[in-house]
Amino acid sequence: MPETFKYTFDTPVFKGDVEVPLGLYIDGKFVDGSNGTYIDVINPTNGKTTTRISEGTPKDVDIAVKAAHQAFETKWGLNTTGVDRARLLNKLADLMEKEQDVLSALEALDNGKTFNWAKRGDVSHSITCIRYYAGWADKVLGQTIETSEAKLTYTRHEPIGVVGQIIPWNFPLQMMAWKIGPALATGCAIVLKPSEFTPLTALYMAKLIDQVGFPAGAFNLVNGYGSIVGQALAEHPDIEKIAFTGSTLVGRKIMEASAKSNLKKVTLELGGKSPTIVFDDADLDQAVKWAAFGIYYNHGQCCCAGSRIFVHANIYDEFLQRFTAHTQTLKVGDPFSPETFQGPQINQQQYDRIMGYIESGKAEGAKVHYGGHRVGDEGYYISPTIFTETKPNMKIVQEEIFGPVCVVIKFSDDDDIVKQANDSVYGLAAAVFSQNVTRALSTAHKLKAGTVWVNVANMLYPNVPFGGYKQSGIGRELGEYALANYTAVKAVQVNLLIKM
Ligand code: NAD
Repeated sequence: MPETFKYTFDTPVFKGDVEVPLGLYIDGKFVDGSNGTYIDVINPTNGKTTTRISEGTPKDVDIAVKAAHQAFETKWGLNTTGVDRARLLNKLADLMEKEQDVLSALEALDNGKTFNWAKRGDVSHSITCIRYYAGWADKVLGQTIETSEAKLTYTRHEPIGVVGQIIPWNFPLQMMAWKIGPALATGCAIVLKPSEFTPLTALYMAKLIDQVGFPAGAFNLVNGYGSIVGQALAEHPDIEKIAFTGSTLVGRKIMEASAKSNLKKVTLELGGKSPTIVFDDADLDQAVKWAAFGIYYNHGQCCCAGSRIFVHANIYDEFLQRFTAHTQTLKVGDPFSPETFQGPQINQQQYDRIMGYIESGKAEGAKVHYGGHRVGDEGYYISPTIFTETKPNMKIVQEEIFGPVCVVIKFSDDDDIVKQANDSVYGLAAAVFSQNVTRALSTAHKLKAGTVWVNVANMLYPNVPFGGYKQSGIGRELGEYALANYTAVKAVQVNLLIKM
């Protein structure tokens, strides 16, 4: 039997005992990895080991894929009805709702995000997402297509089969909900790999999925390192589809592995360098607050973080002064303190990477207008950081930093700002602030981004599609669009009258 993680939270925002299974979840059982090895889970507030999880191997992936196939062929997929799947997903959402404080506390412990934001953002959004896809489960319908009076032609949207799902550490629970929601609603069987840095909420979800009573093998979880377990999923010949969220670098590897193995279908949600454009007719107070939320939410570890803030020359000085003053009010510290807005970055590697970008910005001649330093003596805390006096080709302007670091850039020409905003290999999201609806919407339509927010930032809803232009990804998650990722369309032609 695998170990469990028993932990007593005694914090200002949550008190309680929690028990998390630490094994792999395969064929309806928690099991140890086949090598008997473990991966340490590190607390980002102090760098100490929180617990350890069983490490999966390619052999475990193989066992999980077989279990998923068995389930898909005999008790899941086309052997279930949409109504059954909706009932199971709704039951899962009910359990998540009951355990929302536990899920929020585990997310805060594992990732370093604040308990309050985890509860208000990640956990509440994940519950809504599972309920939303429960609603779709019995509404995934084909069409009757008119061909001739002599024939009946119709389509079926069948579950694609066994799918691999690989998720990152920045929104561990939310990314899991985005992936399992449409997959389970359509009847696909899943082998999921959480990030090795943040496995705890996924393991707790496996416990809830087990309690709900999904057929054994419909959902499987294999922990492990990306280059081993993730790669084994991407290469596996019996997986029909891979859904991946993470870096563009790894996204390329997933596509290569899929191409070389069985040409599995691939959806990729990758990085970004999203622009925030503030015109001179914006509600300045609101623009300041949303722009700050756009970059600093989740410590800048959002794929859609508004890390390039373009401000019209007429209001630049005032914006910068108010934006800096607002940034100063954002408290960095303990994720379990109710006053904290920003916790630590996820790990030493990300900390070093972000500090490396800050150094490169300085070396290339940009000015650190605010922040740019470590906070505290332990853990991976970095001050919110504002750069000014940048040039378009600087690394801090071009590359995804994935930390609480933004560049504030002056512009004066409405046409040129669209060019500047689109000057990126990425195209995930953008935000536009203006009170002039024509100016705002004509800009929104010219931006090469999968999401454009107008007078708001970083807002996501389960029924609104999300995904990227350019190197920010392939395909869309969320909304009705995501269902197509998990279904194959079969056209059936029935001859009623035609004789050969
Ligand atoms: P990552 O690409 O390093 O890892 C993501 C997942 O892929 C992890 O589970 C990891 O173990 C696995 N992985 C690593 N190497 C692999 C390989 N060779 N084969 C298969 N799987 C592998 O990314 P990360 O550091 O965990 O997350 C941060 C990145 O993810 C950022 O670049 C961010 O922009 C991006 N991201 C994008 C979105 C989006 O929706 N577009 C959402 C969240 C994060």
